[in-house]
Amino acid sequence: MLQLININKTFPDGTQALRDISLRLDTGMLGLLGPNGAGKSTLMRTIATLQAPDSGEILFDGRSAVRDPRVLRSRLGYLPQSFGVYPYISCYALLEHLAILKGLNDKSNRRRQIEKVLSLTGLGDHAARHPSNFSGGMLQRFGIAQALLGNPQVLIFDEPTSGLDPAERLRLHQLLYEIAKTCLVLLSTHIVDDIEHLSRHTAIMLGGQIIVSGTTRSLFSDLKGGVWQGSFEGSLPYGAILLGQCLQYGKPVVRVFSEFRPGANFESVSPSLQDRYFLCLRKYTEEVV
Ligand code: ADP
Repeated sequence: MLQLININKTFPDGTQALRDISLRLDTGMLGLLGPNGAGKSTLMRTIATLQAPDSGEILFDGRSAVRDPRVLRSRLGYLPQSFGVYPYISCYALLEHLAILKGLNDKSNRRRQIEKVLSLTGLGDHAARHPSNFSGGMLQRFGIAQALLGNPQVLIFDEPTSGLDPAERLRLHQLLYEIAKTCLVLLSTHIVDDIEHLSRHTAIMLGGQIIVSGTTRSLFSDLKGGVWQGSFEGSLPYGAILLGQCLQYGKPVVRVFSEFRPGANFESVSPSLQDRYFLCLRKYTEEVV
């Protein structure tokens, strides 16, 4: 459905935010995982046709969205990382305003669509309230509702769960899962947990590049037998890579990637997407420092 071919973007101050990005995307969810500054939002804005790449091609059903952004724009819903809402206007009235801007000119079709997205996002009982008074989770659901107007085929959600409490996050997960059954959903986040819950496919982005991509499970299944958890005194053996450090029952515990058992106090554990992510981060940091 959507194909990115060798996309590059450098900002006027010389920051190269996207380097040779190529991806092929179909219905379902792609999780785009990376730390702050990796280039996720720049990639999302580029796919949303809000900024043109310096070079490369975006094909939507075989047609160039770089040459003619309208081919993608009319089938696209976008939830940016942060957005404002007008004060003193109800949720329903604001959705109606946005629906008109999206070209939903037929009144009864517009009403049907607004009611559908309100119901899907669980905002039906809050349609008369002002989004400016919504909680963080409700505001994100409002953002998703506006993105769904016009029956888009491609949905771009930039950090949708940032700052939400656990219950709202789970609620949003369920909503995103439902949407991804019939649409292509691009989910950008630095929260590994979101991707593990939601995305069948994942791309890890660092320094403006896609470092690895594939089915989420395949990204870490090949680490099997190489991830260890335990404690150590002194230093790790040669070749072992420290993935992360945490506390367990008040004792420091480390997670390590190593071909061999890194010490007597270590046990082999099942690898996770977080292990792959930290391994990418460690290797990348070593390369660029
Ligand atoms: P992420 O969404 O992964 O946090 P961004 O796409 O926001 O990353 O940023 C990627 C890089 O591009 C960062 O180094 C950021 O500082 C830089 N950047 C983003 N927008 C601009 C801009 N308008 N002008 C200059 N640099 C920018």
